[in-house]
Amino acid sequence: MPVVSRDAARYPPGMPEREPAICLRAVDYSETSQVLQFLTRNAGVLSLMGKGTKRPKSSTGGAVDLLAEGELVFIAKKREGLGVLVEFTESVSRRSLRTHAVALNAALYALELAGESLAENDPHPDVFDLLHNVLVRLAEPNVPVPAVMAYFQWRLLRNVGLLGQMHACTGCGVGASGGPGRVYFSSAQGGLLCGVCERPVAQKIRVDEQALAGLAALAAAEAGHKANLADPQARAVLRLLDYHVTYQLGHRLRMSRHVIE
Ligand SMILES: [Zn+2]
Repeated sequence: MPVVSRDAARYPPGMPEREPAICLRAVDYSETSQVLQFLTRNAGVLSLMGKGTKRPKSSTGGAVDLLAEGELVFIAKKREGLGVLVEFTESVSRRSLRTHAVALNAALYALELAGESLAENDPHPDVFDLLHNVLVRLAEPNVPVPAVMAYFQWRLLRNVGLLGQMHACTGCGVGASGGPGRVYFSSAQGGLLCGVCERPVAQKIRVDEQALAGLAALAAAEAGHKANLADPQARAVLRLLDYHVTYQLGHRLRMSRHVIE
């Protein structure tokens, strides 16, 4: 399917653009219309008015749901207000995902995290690809949900520049597990803290052995090495990165309580 990239110089205002897109939010606006938020591959997050999208014979074939992925044709907003959805053709079936509660909750967490981490109209093709990949993965049978989600959190936060210092103490640079005492993580300080540097820092959480092993496995995976992220390690990393996300956003994600143990 041809991908038309967003290029202001080539497309005068008001010309329809075409993008691969995933629906992040869908709010009923009227009996027949929706306000929809999409993550597009090359135009970032867009909020669009979907006039008549809920009509069965509309250009979307009926109401657009969260997680729906396909080809979006839209007219970008001028300055204020919403852009306009022209057409949306769903191309990826999310049926198996929607019937598996654990994977579905994880998928909705991934949507929320992606949407909250990005500003509108700020293209992040890598984040689109990450979200696409995690949704595909979560739909597979017997998927290790915590490991898939921990990897997604890590990669997404890295991509938007919010991950923080994850391999050494932010205070003194000593390797995460090399210093004396317990290891902590502080969102306010932007990363790990060794047993010495953590003392004067009030805003921090403990990083246990499982979380440290999980972080090491994720760093190895990121460096292209084969790494196994065991379930307890993945869950510990999920908790740590969810805490970090909460601090960065200033509020907890709505889906956190369904996904983080
Ligand atoms: Zn230190």
